[in-house]
Order: sequence, then C-alpha cells, then structure tokens
Amino acid sequence: MQIEQLFDFLHRSVSPFHAVHTAAQLLDAAGYTRLEEAEYWNLEPEHGYYVTRNESSIIAWRVPAHAIGGWRIAASHSDSPTWRIKNTNVNAAGCIKLNVEGYGGMIMSTWLDRPLSAAGRVLVRDEAAGTLESRLVDLDRDLLVIPSLAIHMDRTLNSGHAFNPQVDMQPLYGLEGSKPFPALLAEAAGVKKEDIVDFDLSLYTRQAPTRIGPDGELFMAPRIDDLECAATTLYGFLDAAPETDSACAPVWAMFDNEEVGSSTRQGADSSFLRDVLDRILNAIPHSAQAQAQAFANSFVLSADNAHAVHPNFADKADPCNKVILGKGVVVKVNASQKYTTSGLTGAIFKEICRKNNVPVQVFANRADLPGGSTLGNLQSHTVPVPMVDIGLAQLAMHSAVETAAVADADAMVRAVAGFYRVHLRSLGDARYTLE
Ligand code: ZN
Repeated sequence: MQIEQLFDFLHRSVSPFHAVHTAAQLLDAAGYTRLEEAEYWNLEPEHGYYVTRNESSIIAWRVPAHAIGGWRIAASHSDSPTWRIKNTNVNAAGCIKLNVEGYGGMIMSTWLDRPLSAAGRVLVRDEAAGTLESRLVDLDRDLLVIPSLAIHMDRTLNSGHAFNPQVDMQPLYGLEGSKPFPALLAEAAGVKKEDIVDFDLSLYTRQAPTRIGPDGELFMAPRIDDLECAATTLYGFLDAAPETDSACAPVWAMFDNEEVGSSTRQGADSSFLRDVLDRILNAIPHSAQAQAQAFANSFVLSADNAHAVHPNFADKADPCNKVILGKGVVVKVNASQKYTTSGLTGAIFKEICRKNNVPVQVFANRADLPGGSTLGNLQSHTVPVPMVDIGLAQLAMHSAVETAAVADADAMVRAVAGFYRVHLRSLGDARYTLE
C-alpha cells in the first residue's frame, strides 16, 4: 500500500456511511459480490462477498475451497468523534446556525475556527414508485465554522475553559437571507427538497491528509482513529487473497458506533458478525460440530489506534512500555481486559509479525490511568474466539486532526497480510502450530 492510498481512503471517508462506501468500492474493484441481509445467500467456494448493515458497518469474506476449518478475522471501526446535526436553520444575531450535538468524546477546542462541511445520508421518498431510500450525501465545500469567542470576552480561554457543547460548539452556517441549508442538501443529493424525509448528517473538517516532517515521515489527517486501521487491515486482507490459509475463511469487518459504546444494531457489540458467520456456515454443507471446531480454530485481530508517547508529555505514558511513532504495529494489553490480548494471543500475533519482519511494540496504560476501551472485548460477547487488540501509534487521539507515522501504516498492511496467510492450527487449548 502506498501512503497515497491511505490518504485517499481517509479523505473520501467523511462519515461512517462514506467509509463503508469507500471500502465497498475497493471490494467491488477486487471482484467481491455485494449481498443483502434481506436476500437468500448462495455462496460459492473461492469467491469473495460482502454485506453492509445500516450502510455504516460492513463485513467482507472469502469462502475457502473446501470446508471452513476456522475464521481469520480483522475488525476495526468506521466512526470518529464528530458533531451530529439536529436542526438546520437556527436564527441567531442576524446569522443562521445549525443545531448540533456531540457524537463521541472529541477534543472540543480542535473543532474551532477551521473550515467544516457536512456529510452522511438523506432518506428520500419517491412518491410514484412508492419507495423510501437512502442517498449518500457530501456537501463537499468549505461551508461552516464554529467561531471561537474573542479572548477579550473570556480571559479563561487559555486557562482551562470549560466548553459547553450547546453554547460553544454550534456552527455558523450563513447570514439571514442565505440560501437555506435544506436547499443546499437537496442539491447535493440530487433530489427535491420536499422529498427528503429525514437525514443522518454530521460535520467533518475540510483538512486534507498531508505529510509533515523534513522527509514527510509523519502525516496529519482527520479520522486517523480508526480509519488508519480500517484501511490498512483492508489492504492487508486484499493483498493476502491469493495465498490465504486454505482451510480458513478470511473475514474483514468494520463496525460503526465504537465511539458511543458499540451497542447498536450495527455495532461491534451487536449480532452482526455472528449472524454473518452463522449464515456463511449454513450456506456451506458442514457437520454438526463444525461450527464449534471452527471457532476453536479461529483468531481475531481487533484493530484500533493506540497512543504514542507524546513528546511534550512523556510522563503520561507507562514508564516501561513506550510506544514510539514509526516503530511498528502496537499490541495493547490491559489487566482489566479492556483489551482482549492475553499472553497467548499476544504471542501468536508477535510470532506472525516476526515471520513477516514487522516491528511490534507494546502499549499498556500507566497503573494510575484508566485508559480507553475498544471493540474487541465487546465483540467477544458474541464471537468466542481467541483475540488480540492491536493498533497503530498516533498523537492527539480524538482531535479534529490527528498525527501518525507513515512507516507504521505499511507495517500494519504487512502484518495483516501475514495474519491471513499463516497456517495457524490449534493443537489443543493454548497449543498452536504456525507455518
Ligand atoms: Zn478508535
């Protein structure tokens, strides 16, 4: 994968709906067949398929030539902290504002004073056809700003200002008499304004991904958490295709709603992955015990970004496990099992990386900091499979624009391709061969 391919993925994926669309386009180009949950599935050996749920989560897989002896799954998330649009035309002080609410735990100040736009989907009625359907929409222009209050009017701004999202974070759209937002939306969606029944829209920053540093060794972009993992695991999944472990079904998944707890119909804590795996097995003749055997012979990478040591705040990191930008894929461990990594699953992943010459580093929180959580331990509620939590090092997680290292993205693609290729067999509880 070239870094430009990652930039393209990040740049096009301005909402979870767009992230799924971007992934679907890559899968289409690689010959995968789109399925619908509402239709009957006929699955053929050695073919690739994908299915979406709510248009914001997606699962892709290939059917092996023979029986499914296990699953090899990489999972990430499609969503990032942002602002969901509640209403579109709010008059205030001679201006028109949007009314928004926070989605996920963003660093609020980073959304101020930069060009923003809006994207997502609109639900469109077709009276003649009697249908209601969704259209992806991206206003795709410098359109909005959340202006700071002047320092003269609040001297606390540089000394721990407490942001109130309903007051501080409402975006300015235009002036009285400006073309109304719904008209702009209808234009962008290519439909009549009165046919838009509802929408799921959120803000995004207009900053394009860009390399920085004397040799471009770092990059900045919005939504690095977690689209960097989503894109790199997808490229690893596609790269491995010709040489995938023949007894295992490779699966790639990207779930929405990680930033708000994953417990939606399409989130990692839903039945989506389990439903798809059960359905694949049902579509392929197998013995009654094959499902349990397949789970025992399976492995999941839960891929979500990790904190690099911040050069200004080195003491925020664990003193012994320092994750450095550019030093390889991160394995995340946590005693309370916020991360699913165990000694065993960490060892399996490190062995895969060693065989593929991919550098690995370990992240653990300081013992006096609780840290974050991710999708792996929630996923394991429905899919009882050995799992490891991994990620890529980054700074400024949940800022409107984040920073990471170019070399790490490539390391993840190679690690994930190696993961899909390795012949991993369970010889018993906690005993494996890896060839
Ligand atoms: Zn994340």
